[in-house]
Amino acid sequence: TQLPADSNLENTRRQVTEACFSYVTPKQTSNPQLLHVSPEMLDKLGLTQADAKSEEFLKVMTGNKVLENTTPYAMCYGGHQFGNWAGQLGDGRAINLFEVEHENKSWVVQLKGAGETPYSRSGDGLAVLRSSIREYLCSEAMHYLGVPTTRALSLALSGDKVLRDVMYDGHPDFEKGAIVSRVSPSFLRFGSYEIFASRQDHKTLKILMDFTINQHFPHLGKPSKETYLQFFAEVTQRTLDMIIHWQRVGFVHGVLNTDNMSILGLTIDYGPYGWLEGFDFGWTPNTTDRQHKRYRYGNQPNMGLWNLYQLANTLFPLIEDAKAIETILEKYTTDFESESLKMMRSKLGLKTENASDHLLMQDLEDVLQVTETDMTIFFRNLGNFKKDEASEGLTIINEAFYVPTELLDTILQQWNAWFDRYAERLQSESIPDSERKSQMNAVNPKYVLRNYMSQLAIDKADEGDYTGIDELFQLLKQPYEDQPKHQKWFAKRPEWARHKVGSSMLSCSS
Ligand code: AMP
Ligand code: MG
Ligand code: MG
Repeated sequence: TQLPADSNLENTRRQVTEACFSYVTPKQTSNPQLLHVSPEMLDKLGLTQADAKSEEFLKVMTGNKVLENTTPYAMCYGGHQFGNWAGQLGDGRAINLFEVEHENKSWVVQLKGAGETPYSRSGDGLAVLRSSIREYLCSEAMHYLGVPTTRALSLALSGDKVLRDVMYDGHPDFEKGAIVSRVSPSFLRFGSYEIFASRQDHKTLKILMDFTINQHFPHLGKPSKETYLQFFAEVTQRTLDMIIHWQRVGFVHGVLNTDNMSILGLTIDYGPYGWLEGFDFGWTPNTTDRQHKRYRYGNQPNMGLWNLYQLANTLFPLIEDAKAIETILEKYTTDFESESLKMMRSKLGLKTENASDHLLMQDLEDVLQVTETDMTIFFRNLGNFKKDEASEGLTIINEAFYVPTELLDTILQQWNAWFDRYAERLQSESIPDSERKSQMNAVNPKYVLRNYMSQLAIDKADEGDYTGIDELFQLLKQPYEDQPKHQKWFAKRPEWARHKVGSSMLSCSS
């Protein structure tokens, strides 16, 4: 329901039924200040550097000005959180400002942290600087890694203080408030549809589905039962694609709830995410998930599928063909196996297919986990391997080990055995070592946004020095290039960061 513009009720918390969104007004902030703008995103929206320096840009991107003839809104959605239906969630601290059409593409510009909405529940609608820096840097870093993702346009301070934690001595620990402007063709999530199915509101569900097809999947044709099914097949495919990319670069999302699953197969909602340092299928950065590790690295493919099952249940009343839906879901599992193998082949520089490749990979994954081995450094350095010099393998990857290698005789034997097999396998490839290296370097990034790296930029920013943000932003624009002046970022996580909250693990508090 649209409330009159002068109503102060529009942002109040409530259950919103039979509606996909609610009009809201962003909160005024006391002292807005831009910290960073993504030049490429500006360009995509048809804006210039000069635009970004204007007073108007600052005001709009911090919620202090609503552009004429635009109607900001927060979206209604539900979600399964950690396996349980959680009811209405919605944009508790995100506000869609407007859409921009440029070069035949349509973008929604959204503020995160711009104040409360009907969906804020017990939250304040705000975001703190640390999590905003993390979201801003990671969205853009993922894009440059070639991983489908929502984008970020700007990072700003609100000038207001935000409370997240209370110290042991009872003192409130205020943090700097911040606002990120995020950009995506759409912010619709699995939960956007689930909410209506859960309320048996098939009428609104259908309206939203038809809108989705017409707006975002027009190539599927006029909305119909058949089109809804094809939509589901495409969402399944895109989800799989996205997760394969995560596995390739060692990204762990941390909170793969259905409200954090984009129907466009984009990585969305950068919260307690992390990057594998030691390769470990059981690792999750999210301390809130420490007990069950539901969203651990090795379980992301399963959780993608679990979430797709929830979407399937949601769309069933519109599709009414259980068999066809089941076939699509089963295909996810078989496709995952073949796609995963393909991805691993590319990481190992194998151009041809060999029936026993999966064994070579399983053995590698086993030996990588026997002792803590840095995933990024391992795969990057493996590009230097020469197929006629198997005995050099260990030297080449030595810096990837977190523990001194001389302690590990049996492990070294295991490694040498693996390198022998790898060398043998490479004999059946026709490309020279140098060519394999450059192909491997295009899929094995040299630089990823390790948690401790963000944390260093955050610690500086807390002190008022924002230069660390730009340094990482520039570095992560070319994650596959050797950047000699940034060599210090091609390094294992330092020991001080191992158990430090923020530098290795994170909670959902942001
Ligand atoms: P997340 O786990 O970050 O995806 O968030 C789950 C839900 O909580 C979403 O509906 C968010 O909008 C909401 N939420 C998270 N933090 C806040 C906050 N500070 N204020 C209001 N809502 C929030
Ligand atoms: Mg979310
Ligand atoms: Mg979040």
